[in-house]
Amino acid sequence: MAFTLPTRRQALAGAAATLATAPAAHAQYAEHKPRFRALILAERASGDHQSFVDAGKAYIAKIAPQNDFAFDSITSTSPINDEFLAQYNIIIQLNYPPYNWTPIAQAAFERYMTEGKGGWMGFHHAALLGDFDGWPMSPWFSNFMGGIRFTHYLPNFARATVKIEDRNHPLAKGLPESFVIAKEEWYTWDRSPRPNVHVIGSVDEASYQPNTMIKMGGDHPVIWSNPNFKARNVYIFMGHHAGLFDDPNFARLFHNAIFWGAGQ
Ligand SMILES: [Zn+2]
Repeated sequence: MAFTLPTRRQALAGAAATLATAPAAHAQYAEHKPRFRALILAERASGDHQSFVDAGKAYIAKIAPQNDFAFDSITSTSPINDEFLAQYNIIIQLNYPPYNWTPIAQAAFERYMTEGKGGWMGFHHAALLGDFDGWPMSPWFSNFMGGIRFTHYLPNFARATVKIEDRNHPLAKGLPESFVIAKEEWYTWDRSPRPNVHVIGSVDEASYQPNTMIKMGGDHPVIWSNPNFKARNVYIFMGHHAGLFDDPNFARLFHNAIFWGAGQ
């Protein structure tokens, strides 16, 4: 007993010291309100898709403190409801498909977009519109993406030139008129979303290297926004692999999309 008393007293003193500093540190954080809050919705994938998600999260983690915004990350739609989404100024859908959402998450997301509660930027898998993994297509999401349905992709990739069509759009800030994307799958859809959306950029199918028969036949938007929804929103097709973040044009586009989408 005699030996345990000092030890116990030390332990208590240590605990008290920890308790004394912890709330102070917490209060410092609590007092500071970041400029905005972002929610990252990213699937757990494999291979290239996971590396894109990892690189995207690393990029966000790098620019968030520099630009005074905060972010949280989820890997499924199960936490999503109205109260949850109300915490965020922008949803970043990094390679998360538009199917297999919980009904509560889907309804909350629809309200967020329709009522303009915040912004949205979606990449790559966000336009996997069709029957996938045993799930039916979400008609709402297809409409949100301009009334399209996925048809094909280039499994062996192609290098291609993306043209910026609306150079005055905030997403185009600092981007050249056109730039090359070294490697992508260039999804095709059953129709161009153009009649229903505002096209910001498109891929020049004639520039594909190697050439392929899998094309949309000329009009192939790859960056667009749907003005029929109150929320600032942008779909960016590119997002298959991590190397995109080493491309200064893609990184610029990603950066622009976050700040535009968050209303900054
Ligand atoms: Zn892919």
